Amino acid sequence: MMYPVMLDLTRQRCLVVGGGAVALRKVEGLLAAGALVVIVAADPSDAVVALAAAGQATLERRPYQRGEVARYRLVFAATNDPLTNAQVAHDAAAAGVWVNAVDDPERCTFQAPARVERGALQLAIGSNGLAPFAVRRLRQLFDRRLGPEWGPWLDAAASLRKTARALGYSPAERERCFDAFFAGTLDAETLKVRVPMASEEASWLRKARPQPAGITPFIGARAAGIPDMGLVSLVGAGPGDPGLLTMAGHERLLAADAIVYDRLAALALPTGVTARVELHCVGKAAGHHSIPQEEIDALLVRLSREGKRVVRFKGGDPFVFGRGAEEAEALCAAGVPFEVIPAATAAVAVAAYAGIPLTKRREVSYVTMFSAHAAAGSEPDPHHWELLAASPHGTLVGYMGVTGLARVAERLLAGGMAPDTPAAMIERGTTSAQRVILSTLAELPAAARAAAVAPPALLVIGPTVRHAARLGWYSQRPLFGHRLALFRPESHFRRPLANLGAEVVPIPLPVTPAARIVMEALPPTAFIFGAVLELDALEHEPDRPAWAARAVALCLTPLAAARARVCGWQQVVDIPGAASLAQPIKTLAEILRSRGRRSA
Ligand code: SAH
Repeated sequence: MMYPVMLDLTRQRCLVVGGGAVALRKVEGLLAAGALVVIVAADPSDAVVALAAAGQATLERRPYQRGEVARYRLVFAATNDPLTNAQVAHDAAAAGVWVNAVDDPERCTFQAPARVERGALQLAIGSNGLAPFAVRRLRQLFDRRLGPEWGPWLDAAASLRKTARALGYSPAERERCFDAFFAGTLDAETLKVRVPMASEEASWLRKARPQPAGITPFIGARAAGIPDMGLVSLVGAGPGDPGLLTMAGHERLLAADAIVYDRLAALALPTGVTARVELHCVGKAAGHHSIPQEEIDALLVRLSREGKRVVRFKGGDPFVFGRGAEEAEALCAAGVPFEVIPAATAAVAVAAYAGIPLTKRREVSYVTMFSAHAAAGSEPDPHHWELLAASPHGTLVGYMGVTGLARVAERLLAGGMAPDTPAAMIERGTTSAQRVILSTLAELPAAARAAAVAPPALLVIGPTVRHAARLGWYSQRPLFGHRLALFRPESHFRRPLANLGAEVVPIPLPVTPAARIVMEALPPTAFIFGAVLELDALEHEPDRPAWAARAVALCLTPLAAARARVCGWQQVVDIPGAASLAQPIKTLAEILRSRGRRSA
């Protein structure tokens, strides 16, 4: 059994015998470690010659000479001649110099492990020279699994250690602090890490060292202006399509310790949010009980006081009809630091997906967003309907319009708006369940009732609504209406299917609570199964019986199809030729189109 070490080779003389591709790799590895490298090669490759010409290593163009190894710390025998390699290894061993002879484990006195590096983090893998192929594959596996964030994560770990030492923490206090760092930043199941905020580190340091009562803890962090409470980000989710979530919002969600979300926002929750993140659903489906606003405010304040990074995840834009302002005020009053990450509000995004330009040169030059709910409510109606009705060159966008629709139409007509003004009701815009009811102001209430439109739905009134029939690009795409669950986020199916208009929901395995929430918010119409283990991973999902009864199981392998049938999936479809790239996408698309959309 070999004994693993990591050597400091800075300015240490190392010898590489050989001048081919293998030797070059060894030379590069040594140079990266800061070694002084001498290459002995009778017939070096151009790359080796170039490296030496650039002054990075010393090249001696000649055959290896017996005994010369003694002057070096470390020797690689990397020629393509086994006899020479054996000779080098023999000489080195005799001189007490560590030697690695390529492809000759018997003669090696050290093995260089396969490495995965992320910044200062090094993962070394070895097999005592017994199964290099397995080592290579494992290296690739870890290389794929460990994201680039591991580098900064290690830096954060190093910096925490330095601070804890500088503050004179005892070994036990340090360990407590490191435990908190580890638990708070690493998801052991998915091997994902995140870099903690300064305020979190401050809170771990504070908690790791018991403070006598009455003493202000961690004065250092305070003095440095680092708040000892978590930040609350009010993040807009957009109206449904997760693609409309902003990069800033996405970043906050992935870095969060706790996410407090509305039902409307659930669709845009990234399914990759790990199981370690606290998820709090605070309502509000119209007509259902929801948590009172004061309780939501109190929850946000409490979570942030626990030092957590909190995301308040809200449908559309946080400051448009979302009570985001009230939450910001509550946080402000409690002295909790917060930020607002805006997003596309329903008016903007839902209208765009329905093909309704909110403004258009010579047709419409202003937009009014109003709460249609207020019109139907018991409180005094704040709107001057006659003003809205009087100017025909604008677009009116009504939020929360399902119950208030008839009243709104009535008021606008009474105010003198033309009964044939184009008007639309858009249900669940920007999702695979989007429905657009096109009509006129006078007839929309009846049309919406007949179509049983349910919240969330947006009311749009104005001249440009008439363009929707032609410009309604989203629902015209071939795979519109299909919501596909896919288990391999990197799958080559994802982009083409999305381009054809399907909604693609990546499901991590094991299934994350976030993915469960996303699928509950709008169940997939089909699951794409590439492997039996994907089917097995769903076996204990509470919603699986419902999916198996309603959704299509599109199986890329005969084994997966057989398994799906055994597991009780009602509609199992084999996708032939799944091994080649283009064919299954075409077949998949055809099958989906022939099967029609969701059946409610
Ligand atoms: N802050 C949100 C609005 C919250 S009020 C925003 O900026 O969009 C909720 C109302 O928004 C719903 O009643 C509906 O009128 C509208 N809405 C939100 N998402 C919608 C969607 N996907 N489709 C249609 N209307 C939507």
